[in-house]
Amino acid sequence: VEVLILKESAPGERRVAATPETVKKLVGAGATVKVERGAGSQAGFVDQAYADAGAQLADGQARAQADLLLCVQPPAAADIEQLKQGAALVGMLQPQADPARAAALQSRGILAFPLERLPRTTRAQAMDVLSSQAGMAGYKAVLIAAQLAPRFFPMLTTAAGTIRPSKVLVVGAGVAGLQAIATAKRLGAQVEGFDVRPETREQIESLGGKFLDLGVSAAGEGGYARQLTDEERAEQQRRLAAHLKGIDVVVCTAAVPGRPAPKIVSGAMVEGMKPGSVIVDLAAETGGNCEATRPGETIEHNGVTVAGPLNLASMGAVHASEMYARNVYNFVALFLKDGALGFDWEDELLAKTRWPEPAAAG
Ligand code: NAD
Repeated sequence: VEVLILKESAPGERRVAATPETVKKLVGAGATVKVERGAGSQAGFVDQAYADAGAQLADGQARAQADLLLCVQPPAAADIEQLKQGAALVGMLQPQADPARAAALQSRGILAFPLERLPRTTRAQAMDVLSSQAGMAGYKAVLIAAQLAPRFFPMLTTAAGTIRPSKVLVVGAGVAGLQAIATAKRLGAQVEGFDVRPETREQIESLGGKFLDLGVSAAGEGGYARQLTDEERAEQQRRLAAHLKGIDVVVCTAAVPGRPAPKIVSGAMVEGMKPGSVIVDLAAETGGNCEATRPGETIEHNGVTVAGPLNLASMGAVHASEMYARNVYNFVALFLKDGALGFDWEDELLAKTRWPEPAAAG
């Protein structure tokens, strides 16, 4: 089979779906591997490194021949139209986000594997792109906050007196939130976190953070949070508003699968914070946890800096790509053996990730 690594075309996207390390493994599994010229250049992987790993460098025409294509972000609908009928495509494809893309995938009979659909079981951990990329995003969000803040994070004892450490609050303690807590802690801040899943208390504490109890517990299905009821939300808001007055930096990471980001920090809460405080809203991608967030922008709201950075994982393109590429390789290894593609639809990792699901496809 012919496997093609696509050069990303989305604006600002620096990551790549395969590294020389994973290309070597794909070649070892019997595939002919082609890499579009410049595919890894923004992530620190030059063409020659892929060639040395056993890949052929390719131009645009290779897309029409490949049996399996690997990408980070979804190709444009027009590009999907050029793929070979029935080819397999693996990446963070978000088919439902764009009707033109969904239609193109279906009209070409593409075997689409949107990796964000992968069930989050123990067996799937090594393929979990949401986790690996969220880790980088949480890390970068804290560095952006530290950069924007007009304060030190650590406590300092100097000849000019003692500097008190910054108080950092992390909203949502999933994969990104826990990495944000760990990163802020390493920078010396006083860190608190909260989540609606009760098991996060222990996870936050194990990283040296303090669990902020807002009196709401809302564990949902599959280890995720459920949406809060109106009463729960009001209770969370009331307690949070009072607490935020003493906080210097807020990093927002809360999400509920398949829904816009929950609005947790209201405009009034921002207005109640001290001037010079900073909010970095990693949930900006899905609308933001803070009412004042403008996705893609950094603004000032009543003396508080509110940043809504997008695609934070791409900012750490080298390590984000290394992790992503290993995730992708581990997934591909489920169906690439001895140079051939064979799909076992009894395997839930394949059946549930495939879009549309085989059963639904009839
Ligand atoms: P996510 O990005 O969907 O959400 C981020 C966090 O926001 C979650 O912790 C969620 O509980 C929290 N949240 C939602 N609404 C909130 C609210 N109103 N207030 C405060 N917090 C709120 O989640 P994620 O980081 O992708 O992962 C969520 C869960 O999945 C975690 O338990 C994680 O450990 C688990 N997971 C399991 C595996 C596995 O292999 N078993 C792999 C990855 C993740």
